[in-house]
Amino acid sequence: MNIPKIIIAIDGYSSSGKSTLAKDLAAKLGFKYIDTGAMYRAVTLFAKQNGIINDKGEIDEEKHKEKLPGIDLNFKNVNDKNHILLNGKDVEDEIRSLEISELTSKVSKLPFVREFLVAKQREIGKDKGIVMDGRDIGSVVFPDAEVKFFVTASPEVRAKRRYEELKAKGMKADYDSVLNSLLERDKQDTTRKTSPLVKTDDAIVIDNSNLSREEQLELALKYINERLKNLDNAKN
Ligand code: C5P
Repeated sequence: MNIPKIIIAIDGYSSSGKSTLAKDLAAKLGFKYIDTGAMYRAVTLFAKQNGIINDKGEIDEEKHKEKLPGIDLNFKNVNDKNHILLNGKDVEDEIRSLEISELTSKVSKLPFVREFLVAKQREIGKDKGIVMDGRDIGSVVFPDAEVKFFVTASPEVRAKRRYEELKAKGMKADYDSVLNSLLERDKQDTTRKTSPLVKTDDAIVIDNSNLSREEQLELALKYINERLKNLDNAKN
């Protein structure tokens, strides 16, 4: 599909299907795809591996701040999937464990971590032609994005998806813990002081509880076309 190089910001709850939508849109439009959740997860893994987070889950903030410049993040295409590299090492699988998922909500609250990653995200997106997903993309990273989506689904549908995902990867999981962990992360992500997950006024809501992957993509493409037409009309 031929559309101008724009920024598409996708925000939403954990396991809401926002990454699926982001990947599908990027593939359809020939845009770059950036998963900012993977960036927060990789920073958390780094903190865990370097003794910045102890076994009780407590974070040594001073040490974290000091070590932050030593974190190099990159993305690499592996079998048509975007894998994150932490200081050159592919950590795509490691960052998806339940332990890292839970710790990430704590690390992502820290203003200096957000500042560090937001700067990187703006740099990556400066040439546009990008779909970026996360929690604060439309509100903080790219408030002027041409198209913003807020993706949601019921907690039960999201927990089931996450549970199936973990099982498919051969990871240990039970549905109730996955649901509880997800609700806890929702709470942390929406109530934190710095850049909480919010739906901006100009974001288009997609509730995909009852939508197939294809239906979700089709709906999003329809909204993008409408938004671009409106932007064009406003210019003329
Ligand atoms: O999207 P994903 O579930 O992989 O994100 C993991 C965690 O990273 C979230 O629970 C949230 O705490 C944090 N995050 C964030 N801001 C973003 C992306 C993710 O705070 N833009």
